[in-house]
Amino acid sequence: MPGANQPLRLASLPTPYLEPGAALLRTLYSEVCGTDVHLHHGKLDVPYPIIPGHVSVGVVETTGGRIKDIEGNYIKEGDVVTFLDVHETCNNCYQCLVARQPTRCPSRKVYGITYSAKDGLLGGWAEAIWLKPGVKMIKLPKELTPETFIGGGCGLVTALHAVDMAQLRLGESVAVLGVGPVGQSIVAFSSLSGAGEIIAVGAPRERLDFARRMGATAALGLDLPANSRLETVRGLTGGRGVDCVIEASGAPDAIKQGLDMVRDGGRMIVCGHYTDNGAIEINPHWHINRKHVELKGCWGSRYDHFHRSVALTARYGHLKPWAEMVSGRYPLTNADQALMAVEKQTAIKALITPNPQLTGSGKKEAGSGGMRLTG
Ligand SMILES: [Zn+2]
Ligand SMILES: [Zn+2]
Repeated sequence: MPGANQPLRLASLPTPYLEPGAALLRTLYSEVCGTDVHLHHGKLDVPYPIIPGHVSVGVVETTGGRIKDIEGNYIKEGDVVTFLDVHETCNNCYQCLVARQPTRCPSRKVYGITYSAKDGLLGGWAEAIWLKPGVKMIKLPKELTPETFIGGGCGLVTALHAVDMAQLRLGESVAVLGVGPVGQSIVAFSSLSGAGEIIAVGAPRERLDFARRMGATAALGLDLPANSRLETVRGLTGGRGVDCVIEASGAPDAIKQGLDMVRDGGRMIVCGHYTDNGAIEINPHWHINRKHVELKGCWGSRYDHFHRSVALTARYGHLKPWAEMVSGRYPLTNADQALMAVEKQTAIKALITPNPQLTGSGKKEAGSGGMRLTG
């Protein structure tokens, strides 16, 4: 990605020298997420040119010496692994040590986002990915297919962080605002957490239908006016509103709508505003103070969210159709189309397949896959 709003371009980079602890992955899948669309529109301050792709799955081709995962198991050549895109969290600054908010550590680096292509193969939309020493890899357990994990992708990790913050109790009602990849996984994790009513709100209709498959008990489209949606939510919750709202839409107005939907004394988690989508007016008296509401922002994710996301998709991948969220596979030469599909919401999840000979998707070009959507 040479710069904001410029067409993508293919380039050759040198094979990295693997220092001890480093590894080279042959990429199987790298996802296209909403953040990549924002990057393409210049909405994040990054060192263009960049190689996008922050969550990926690959095969270990070579390692610099012996590498262990956090449980002491060796990572070997030929292993199918994923890795946490965030690294170099310093554990040596105010945010890490005093505030204990490592996701706000100023030293952290993120594959596919904070690195320039001039720094090397540090993004997933590439045939190979250079994992620097200290990047945390996890070997996919045998019961977890790469397609299931990458189908959830980075949305899994964000969703788990948000659902953790929501501290859902068995039987509680949840409204999930936004039915993109993050919203879909929030619905799935809420359902696995034993939530009661799970109300998905968003568009288009196909995504709402998919949210029902993930565990939503009700699905409200944006074609309904906000007032009718609010009435429906209250009707489903004894007139009180939901115990918890999790916002994953990125629409400023969803903040106000969520604060309208949450019951007195309820919680609202905001994780959809990863980029600045503008301001919204709320009424501090009615929306926050008098409501006695708890409002929390959720930024980025930690290793524990990533680790548990792998474990959860391995355990529950047969119950929740993460693999079917993939609606398009694109070779590197068609990465522009993948970005467009995510931007136009014709795909829930588009994947880049830089080595189609390894993923059996050589013949499945753009637009093929489990589920097809039209905006
Ligand atoms: Zn992402
Ligand atoms: Zn730090």
